[in-house]
Amino acid sequence: MRPAVFLDRDGVINDHRRYVNEPDDFYLFPFAPEAIARLNEADFFVGVVTNQGGIGLGYMTEESLREIHKKMSAELEAAGARLDDIMYCPHAPKAGCRCRKPKPGMIELLARRHDLDVKRSYMVGDRDVDVLAGRAAGCKTIFVGDGTPPVRVKPDAHVRDIAAAAQWILRDAGRTPSS
Ligand SMILES: [Mg+2]
Ligand SMILES: [Zn+2]
Repeated sequence: MRPAVFLDRDGVINDHRRYVNEPDDFYLFPFAPEAIARLNEADFFVGVVTNQGGIGLGYMTEESLREIHKKMSAELEAAGARLDDIMYCPHAPKAGCRCRKPKPGMIELLARRHDLDVKRSYMVGDRDVDVLAGRAAGCKTIFVGDGTPPVRVKPDAHVRDIAAAAQWILRDAGRTPSS
């Protein structure tokens, strides 16, 4: 079974100063492609798990989300990085679904679909719900950015951004190149 790095989307892969409801709102962090490429090279499965409650609330169509994800994948691929799968929860925050983070549903589904070893996997996110979902699934968790990490469930690491997170993961997994 392969280990994975599960990435939250907004605030991790792309700038989230405003809501991303259409492709023109999507701004890839300039350092994200290299970080993801390093995880690809280390043979981690790299998957996105993102809450997109705006669909359930009617602010965005599923069609727009697909266009946004097409843009994200294309920009990453042009820079040499690959996402192995993208999973989103389209349900409204109070719909009570089993996929919306802090529930671990999306991680568990990806793990089943791709035969992933969650115990050797990592969840990277910029909100408390990301840490909670990752922990509930049995992953190590990395909190990124200058938000407030959850108090009751501490992340395994708190770093600046996805670049630092990739570095932390590669070191933790003993995959840092010796050169
Ligand atoms: Mg986020
Ligand atoms: Zn859901």
